[in-house]
Amino acid sequence: MKIKVATLFPESFDCMHVGIIGRAIEKGILELECVNIRDYSKDKHRKTDDAPFGGGAGMVMTVQPLHDCVNAIDPDREYRRIYMSPRGATLCQQKVVELSKADKLLFVCGSYEGVDERFIELDIDEELSIGDYVLTGGELPCMVTVNAIARYVDGVLGSEQSVEEESFSQGLLEYPQYTRPAVFEGLGVPEVLLSGDHAKVAAWRREKQLEITRERRPDMYEKIRPLIEAEAAKRAKRRKNGGKKG
Ligand code: SAM
Repeated sequence: MKIKVATLFPESFDCMHVGIIGRAIEKGILELECVNIRDYSKDKHRKTDDAPFGGGAGMVMTVQPLHDCVNAIDPDREYRRIYMSPRGATLCQQKVVELSKADKLLFVCGSYEGVDERFIELDIDEELSIGDYVLTGGELPCMVTVNAIARYVDGVLGSEQSVEEESFSQGLLEYPQYTRPAVFEGLGVPEVLLSGDHAKVAAWRREKQLEITRERRPDMYEKIRPLIEAEAAKRAKRRKNGGKKG
């Protein structure tokens, strides 16, 4: 996957070159290119912002450097262009999976009070937010988004890691996890996890997923309630048929 980022602070992305994402970049599974918007400013002082028409607090990023930067790095409009913005649709796992299917993504990080609206009109395909709060710049939102997307790109996660059973992947939160030692500070782990009975472990995990989701995210639970009820009805039918499927 090719990712380009237009930002006033390309050095912020140095921290992407560590851990799982760093390895994916090293292996060439992920190409990450950060470009400084300031390099495209035609202003003699390389300015990239100006006071807002109509007055008001703060500065607005001017359209010329943004427009020239984005069209220099994506001249044939091959990239899906995303402007990180609190006004955008909120990032969620479904959106992450959708974006992970694109081959080429171009992110634009705003600063100050944001960008001249004409840049969005001319050059942007969609606006994306990482939540209902305001940060000083689009760099962290962009890194959050790229990190989440990269986990779905083939070869980024090792074979021992999976996106299948995680929180949100099946509309549920994850079950509790335990590892060695079996007892710590007097706290043990649920017996079933030590039983070696895979079917019982799977049933326990499913039960915990449902319980935790119901308690912590009733909104998510409501969405999958019909599926859960259908599953329960199937199980009841099976029990009635003496364990036979169908
Ligand atoms: N004046 C803007 C508003 O009220 O919507 C906020 C501008 S913010 C201080 C500067 C930049 O940070 C934005 O242009 C955007 O790129 C980025 N940003 C801030 N919060 C964000 C969020 N929740 N999601 C995505 N990007 C965000």
